[in-house]
Amino acid sequence: MMRSVISLTFDDGLRCHFEKVVPILDAYGLPATFFLVANADWSLKDGQRHPRWRKTHWNKKDVQLLKNMIQQGHEIGSHSVHHRHPYLDRDPLYEAQHSKQWIEDRLGTEISSYCYPFCHFNEPIKAAVINAGYGQARWGANEVYYPFEENIDLFKVDCRLISKFGYERTRGNFIGKYGAEDVAGWSRPDCWHVLMFHGIGTIKDGWWPIPVTEFERQMGELARMRDSGEVEVATFKEGAKEFRHREIARGELRIEAST
Ligand SMILES: [Zn+2]
Repeated sequence: MMRSVISLTFDDGLRCHFEKVVPILDAYGLPATFFLVANADWSLKDGQRHPRWRKTHWNKKDVQLLKNMIQQGHEIGSHSVHHRHPYLDRDPLYEAQHSKQWIEDRLGTEISSYCYPFCHFNEPIKAAVINAGYGQARWGANEVYYPFEENIDLFKVDCRLISKFGYERTRGNFIGKYGAEDVAGWSRPDCWHVLMFHGIGTIKDGWWPIPVTEFERQMGELARMRDSGEVEVATFKEGAKEFRHREIARGELRIEAST
């Protein structure tokens, strides 16, 4: 079947994701992946100039909420320990390994997906992520659709930043322009397409914010595409797994053909 697979990913563990996004996703039965920063500071301190964005601070209540999300079919991934330069280059293995351990200790489940903060990527960082024991890692954001018949680098998976072309700078703030998102365009037969979201709400919630109503419209349309059988919505981990399965199947076919 020539089906399109779409993975929804949310960066930084922003509170708007738990307060606004998860209820909408759960209402539509859409699974997603949330990349969380593994430290107990509850505002996002990434060294960039922006309003104070609230993120998960890993108290008991947060941990319970995250466990419930996993029960609902969502995936929790890691987004480093510091989410800050120069740590990312100074000790990439610590950023990858310690964040994995930190989250696993709290959630009691294996964390297999990593997301490069600021999409900052180089070979030593990739090697550290592999050595830390992850299965796949998200990068971005060049809007690549990955055909399932190709072999891809699962440690450099590109994505589309929702609202990338929909924001404008107004008095120093990034304000979403909305309506620019072509949801039908997310789907492409027999391809994997990963989407990246940041702020849902206003600039007080995160980068490139899109209003809750626009997000709800997008998810409603995506759910209809899913219901019609046109697309499959899978967590990042599951999307990568499907890729691996098809890659293995091709390898087996090649072996059969050569014997
Ligand atoms: Zn980030």
